[in-house]
Formats: sequence, structure tokens, C-alpha cells
Amino acid sequence: METSKGISRRSFIGGGMAGAAGLVAAGLLSSCSPGSQATTEQSATEGEAAQIKTADETVESNILIVGSGAAGLMAAYEAGKAGAENILVIANCPSIEANNGNMVSGTAAVETPYTEAAGQDYSIEQLFDRMVNFAHWTVNARLLKTCVELLPGNIDIFDELGIELTLGADRYSIGFEEVHLFGTENKSAVFQKHLEDAYGVQFRFSTEAKHALMEDGACVGVQAEDEDGKVIDFKAKATLLACGGYIDNPDMLKEVYGDMTIVASSTEWQKGLGVKIAQEAGAFRESTHGLGMNDIFGSTEELGFNLGNPLLGAAFYGGLIVDEHGKRFMNEYMLANESMAGGGEATLHVKQYYAIFGQRVIDALKEQGYYQIIGSPEFWVSGMLLYGQPLEDLDQSLQDAIDTGWVFKGDTIADVAAQAGLDELETTVEAYDDMAAAGVDTMFGKRAEMLIPVADGGPYYLFKYNPGAFNTFGGCRTDEFTRALRADFSPIEGLYIAGVENGSLYSRPYYDVGGTCSGLAYSSGRLAGMQMAEYTS
Ligand SMILES: Cc1cc2nc3c(=O)[nH]c(=O)nc-3n(C[C@H](O)[C@H](O)[C@H](O)COP(=O)(O)OP(=O)(O)OC[C@H]3O[C@@H](n4cnc5c(N)ncnc54)[C@H](O)[C@@H]3O)c2cc1C
Repeated sequence: METSKGISRRSFIGGGMAGAAGLVAAGLLSSCSPGSQATTEQSATEGEAAQIKTADETVESNILIVGSGAAGLMAAYEAGKAGAENILVIANCPSIEANNGNMVSGTAAVETPYTEAAGQDYSIEQLFDRMVNFAHWTVNARLLKTCVELLPGNIDIFDELGIELTLGADRYSIGFEEVHLFGTENKSAVFQKHLEDAYGVQFRFSTEAKHALMEDGACVGVQAEDEDGKVIDFKAKATLLACGGYIDNPDMLKEVYGDMTIVASSTEWQKGLGVKIAQEAGAFRESTHGLGMNDIFGSTEELGFNLGNPLLGAAFYGGLIVDEHGKRFMNEYMLANESMAGGGEATLHVKQYYAIFGQRVIDALKEQGYYQIIGSPEFWVSGMLLYGQPLEDLDQSLQDAIDTGWVFKGDTIADVAAQAGLDELETTVEAYDDMAAAGVDTMFGKRAEMLIPVADGGPYYLFKYNPGAFNTFGGCRTDEFTRALRADFSPIEGLYIAGVENGSLYSRPYYDVGGTCSGLAYSSGRLAGMQMAEYTS
């Protein structure tokens, strides 16, 4: 990297933009390119006050990749493979291991050596068709098509790098197996080493991009700060934002989901800066915003990021679930079987949700686990996770949960309802138990084997939940080549967006195909890498 220190430059985009917007309104800048005009208007409308500081250092590269997660690493791989030189990856996490990309346990693909060995013939075309229709065409279909086509190549790359994979089961009951499970621990470290050795890619961690650097409407890099507060201008011919969205930014979550708590089941680095930087550069923020939901393990704000407490599974096995008023709001089977997609989505439309059990169920959990006691449907995503597992130390964990304040215990249903302030709970349980006795869910059509009566003897336990998510989906709009687009659909020169913060690739709810979260992140990263290599060559 070429670096030069102490370059002095101070400009205040916010103030400058507001002034320019006035001139646009007066028709004085009508000769401006459509691009710069759109940038001006959008930034001014949003009242952005991006402050570019005087840089302590300037680092120049050919290709700058912001983010060392799933998309960023794949982008570096393809750019390097295409012959691009001087590739720099910066990331705000302290090391390659410490980001969401390294947490991925399985990734989607069809038409791979693994699916072929398993005798599967589900095709790329079928997968694309399924996904684009699931998304109701709310995405850039050409981009999605390309990314689905690239899925098998993702697997080839992991094979090339010696990262172990096996084909997982059909967890979503979609009729085919597509999740390729990673066997190698710290796969991102293996990836980083390969990129360094094969393509001379350089990495700078603990370095957080803050603002877009713009010249004549084109993106020429980002301004970042390192852990010591040093301000660095990273200048590049092409810049990729692959910052993983905004799951770790409660304010941005509130903008989309309102006044509810969404528990981030993630590392802490996905703070939405990539989306903001793209907007600052003039990109248009798309309206589709989804969540890769963690309603497999369960979340409650009292525990925060916690993937290891089996008690949190209580809501995901098809028993009665109610909202903050004590009213039923969904077919609980959805949460059991499409926990990350439609099931999780339903929990985003109530402020809080609760599961309730009597002592009989609690006792059975000690011997049998959730699956057997709450019902035994043929296919069951959550059941796959805790299948046949009795809950160890249940009495102690229940007491801990009561002490922590996310489980309420009472002798009667009225008692737990009063503790949690659920005015309608008693009425709901009465109606629910009538349906259970009749074996028909006349309200939401839940399968009969999941209609287990609640009021069958106390004491009762009420479990309080918040929606949880591994990551967000959505951000600014791109074209089919991952180039960031302005509101007028013109591309912003030099700026690319990949991974879960690409606003044109993911659906809400999350696709009902497990592993597409990372799969599309890898694919879009690769696509961006190829594009940037071509653009900069
Ligand atoms: C516990 C857990 C388990 C998961 N399991 C799976 C799974 O099994 N299958 C699956 O498909 N998906 C899974 N996911 C989701 C998966 O992690 C994401 O789909 C994927 O990592 C998204 O890739 P990305 O490149 O868009 O973002 P990320 O992988 O999140 O990478 C973002 C990168 O950007 C960096 N960054 C952020 N902001 C800045 C900034 N301002 N400046 C510099 N760097 C920045 C971060 O440090 C990070 O390096 C899981 C997530 C978690 C948390």
C-alpha cells in the first residue's frame, strides 16, 4: 500500500451539501451530472452532517474492501484470482475470527459434488425460482439469479482451500438438502492466509470506516479511524462496502421495527456504518429490511446474546404463545418449523411474546425434552436441534430464569398473568384449551398434535421472549453487478455493496432455504470482486 502521512484536508459534507441543495432548488446547478445532484438532494434531505476530518495518514490501494466477513473475503478472493493487485481489506473487528462471517456453520448451495453424491437433482433454476417467488420479486432478480448461480462455486472455493464440508439434513423440510456444514474451525483464518499467500491481499483490523470519500460524484474510498483514534483516508479506485448490516445498532433497528427490543445474537461489529456510508455517498436506501432470525435458540433481553440455554427453546416447539396482552397472535407451528423465516417474522409484529406451561410439561421436559412432550410433528426444525434431549438441571435453570426475571412462576394462570401484566391470558388459555379438547385450532389452523392443553394443573411458568437475530438484511440499492445506485438508478462510480447489507438481494422474511444468508453473501462478494477487478484493470 502506498501511504502518506499528515495530509491535511478538512471539509464538512453536511454544510456543503445543504448549501448546494439550495442552489439546486434555485436551478443554478442544473448543469450538474444527475449523479451529483441526487447525492446532494438525498444527503440534504436526511440532514446528514458527515464530518470528514483531517487525516493523519492516507493509504492508497487499487481495491478497498471494507469488511472481512463472508462477502469481503470472497470479494478479495475473486479480485485476486482475476489478477488485481494491491487489494486491501479493512475491518473494525480485532481479528479475522471475531466477526459474523466466522460464525457461519452452514451455507446453501445446490449442484455441488456433495449434493450430487447424495443423489440430489434439485437445480439452480429450481432454487432461483423458489427464492425469487418467496421474495415476491422484491429483489433485483438478475442479481439474485447470478448469486444463486454462483452458489456451487462457493463450495468449490472452500474445497480448494481445504475447508471441510459435509451435507446437512433438510432442516427446513423443503424437500432437498442444501446446507453445507463447515467442519473446519476458524475457516476465516484459513481464508485470510490463502488470500495473503496467493494474492498478497493485505488486512488491517480494528479499523472502522466512518465516511465515504467522494470526488466529483465518484467514491474514491473511505475515511476510517483505528483503535487509537488515528484518522486514515483509505483511497482506492474501487471500494466495496461489505459491513454486514446493522444488527448491532439498536437505533437503526428501531427505525425499521419500532419500539421493541431485538436481541442481537451476533458479534458486536455490525453497526450499520456500511449502510450509512453508502447513503452518504448518495446511494438509495431500499425499503426491504429483514432479519436473519435467531428463533431457533430463542432470545430474551434479560439474557442478551445467549445460544446455550435450552430453556430458551420453550417457545419453539408449538405450544401456546401469546403477545404482551396475553392474546394469541400466530400459528405456533410456524415458529417451530420456520423459525428463522415466517415464524420469526410473526414475532416482529407484537411488542413481546410469551410461552406458558404447567408443571406437567415441565416435569416431562426433565425426562423427555421438548419434542416428545409438546407434540411430535413429522418435520420439525426446532425439534431437530433439541430432539430427544431431556433438559438437564431443569429446576436450577428455572430458578435462575425466575431470579433473572424472564420466567414468571405462579400457582394459577391468573397469578402469572398478573405478574407479567397479561390481561387477556386467562381468556386465551380457556379458548385454547377448548380447541385442544376438540382437536381443532379454529383460530390459526395449527396441527392437532401441537394442541396440548395448558390449564392442566399448576404451578404455571410463563417465559418472556424478545425476537432475536443473527444479522439484518437490507441496505442500499445496487444493480445486478453490485454497483451502488442512486435514487435515479445511476451507478455511483467506484462504489460496490455486497453481503447482507446489499439492499437488492434479500427478502423479508428470510428465505425459507437454510444457509442462503451466508450463501448469497459469499456469492455477492465474489461478484463484486470480479466486477471491481474488471473496473480497475
Ligand atoms: C452466531 C451466528 C451464526 C450464524 N450462522 C449462520 C449459518 O449457519 N448460515 C448462514 O447462512 N448464516 C449464518 N449466520 C449469518 C452470517 O454470519 C451472515 O450471513 C454473513 O456473515 C453475512 O456476511 P457479510 O459479509 O454480509 O457480513 P459479516 O460476515 O457480518 O461481515 C461484516 C464485516 O464488516 C466489518 N465491519 C462492519 N462495519 C465496519 C466498518 N464500519 N468498518 C470496517 N469494517 C466493518 C465487520 O467487522 C466484519 O468483518 C450466522 C450469524 C451468527 C452471528
